[in-house]
Amino acid sequence: MKYENTGFSLFQTSDFALQASELTRLGKETILIVEDEKALVKVLRYNLENSGYKVAAAHDGAEGLLLFQKAKPDLAILDVMLPKLDGFELCKIIRQKHKTPILFLTAKKDEVDRVLGLELGADDYLTKPFSVRELLARVKAVLRRFSAEIRSPAAYSFGNLKIDLERYEVRVGAKTAALSSKEFEFLKFLAQAEGKAVSRDVLLEKIWGHDRSMEIDTRTADQYIARLRNKLQDESGRLITVKNIGYRLKTD
Ligand code: CA
Repeated sequence: MKYENTGFSLFQTSDFALQASELTRLGKETILIVEDEKALVKVLRYNLENSGYKVAAAHDGAEGLLLFQKAKPDLAILDVMLPKLDGFELCKIIRQKHKTPILFLTAKKDEVDRVLGLELGADDYLTKPFSVRELLARVKAVLRRFSAEIRSPAAYSFGNLKIDLERYEVRVGAKTAALSSKEFEFLKFLAQAEGKAVSRDVLLEKIWGHDRSMEIDTRTADQYIARLRNKLQDESGRLITVKNIGYRLKTD
């Protein structure tokens, strides 16, 4: 029963990314370990399972590849030096078809450069020896980052308004709206709230964060909205003032 209560409180958190990752965690994410040191596999398996993950383990690269295809893990932990197929080769094969996050275990300093190289597209690495606590923290961080990425779409479209997060571009119909970077962030944050009202304070905190200077107050939010309305032209009516609270973006 205790666990169920924890589950309910997670539903109430306001941090979308955290919520998503914690919820999938409750659904048990699968982690694939490909490592030929059996004693290390044992320790990792024990600790990962204790942290609520499902674990699949292989002791060489070829077996690792088969298991990857079968288990469809949410994250793969690959040792670099492996019998049959090394971690680099395995990573390249996985990357041809999958975006699954990959965390490398390296034994030598000179492997780090390759691990970090763009050709492999690894998400993180740990140099042996490492502490289990460090590994668990990295696993959690990589999974959280990944679930936040797949949850946020590359573009939003509302009527004639299109917000392209990859190209950093806002269009109204065929015309590009010339937004400053802060105006863009403002609009993006409202779009990500999916129609819900966002308070001025939250908007300012999200956009200026720790850079918030003394001059920025709630009126700043109003000024940004006024400028955005101006620039969004035909679609300006989507920016709705919610009395005594803040703003929302009309999504329907
Ligand atoms: Ca090894």
